[in-house]
Amino acid sequence: MNRFIKDTALSLGFDACGIAKADFLEEDAVYLRSWLNEGRHGDMHYLERNFEKRTDPRLLVPGCKSVVVTLLNYFPDEEQISTAPQIARYAYSAIDYHTIIKEKLALLEQKLVEEYGESIVAKDHQHIFVDSAPVLERRWAERAGLGWIGKNTLLISSQLGTFTFIGVLMINAETEYDTPMVEHCGKCTRCIDACPTRALAPREMNARRCISYLTIENKKEIPEEFLPLLSNRMYGCDICANVCPWNKKWAHPHHEQALTAFPGMLNWTAETWQNMTKEQFNAAFRYSAVQRAGYKKLMQNIRAANNLQSSARH
Ligand code: SF4
Ligand code: SF4
Repeated sequence: MNRFIKDTALSLGFDACGIAKADFLEEDAVYLRSWLNEGRHGDMHYLERNFEKRTDPRLLVPGCKSVVVTLLNYFPDEEQISTAPQIARYAYSAIDYHTIIKEKLALLEQKLVEEYGESIVAKDHQHIFVDSAPVLERRWAERAGLGWIGKNTLLISSQLGTFTFIGVLMINAETEYDTPMVEHCGKCTRCIDACPTRALAPREMNARRCISYLTIENKKEIPEEFLPLLSNRMYGCDICANVCPWNKKWAHPHHEQALTAFPGMLNWTAETWQNMTKEQFNAAFRYSAVQRAGYKKLMQNIRAANNLQSSARH
């Protein structure tokens, strides 16, 4: 079954697939509890919900025995022009990656049902997860042998680097499991040193200081202290990924047609972004991950990223 699942996942366009035994994530439960107690999640209160389910998939999905984890490479072959305010690479595509991966996972599930019968997944229950709060996807990817969690808190795949989307399919069958990968960060601290807002400590993220949080999840204005540190980022941040030597070694352009950017967007200048109307925003980002910020927040970010915030406020 292990081989069948992996071959099917690869045939559907995923770049890697691994399988882990569904189990209680004891160490993560202890860490997550103290992380939440210290308020490091900022305004992301949804992370406080479903605590028990988040650390034990058997409580999340009735009958769950195995966690199938897939990776989809999103490293683009073309970048935004460097003088424009920057979007994190994962959000380049005109179609939100959640949609793309969920469709692929649904096809994977369908093939498994055809091969092993309907009882392989929990009936009338969610068992597909993409970047969703109740599942610690990076930990499951590590347990499924797909990579390790680096000091930048990202999954580092030994085939793809860190620019991957993680998808999870919980199944109600036992199979052979993959061996978790050992960590290869060693003494390197490049990501920690490069983070402009000092959001990172080894394998620990203070979300309230991270540019990704400040430009997307934080719905208020970005606090004054962070404005000079945004490094021209308007939606998310790739700095701690860009400096990782494993990305220099392993990251390579994806082959997924569905991840194509809105036509011309990568060539928009700073001026184009600053003058973007709501209609233009909707035309370009109606189905994209950038919708998560919304037009108003994105325009605030653009002004902040370009250090135009003072003129906007006075
Ligand atoms: S994404 Fe940017 S701000 Fe956040 S931890 Fe990485 S380098 Fe720091
Ligand atoms: S930059 Fe260095 S420390 Fe950070 S994740 Fe990459 S290898 Fe690990």
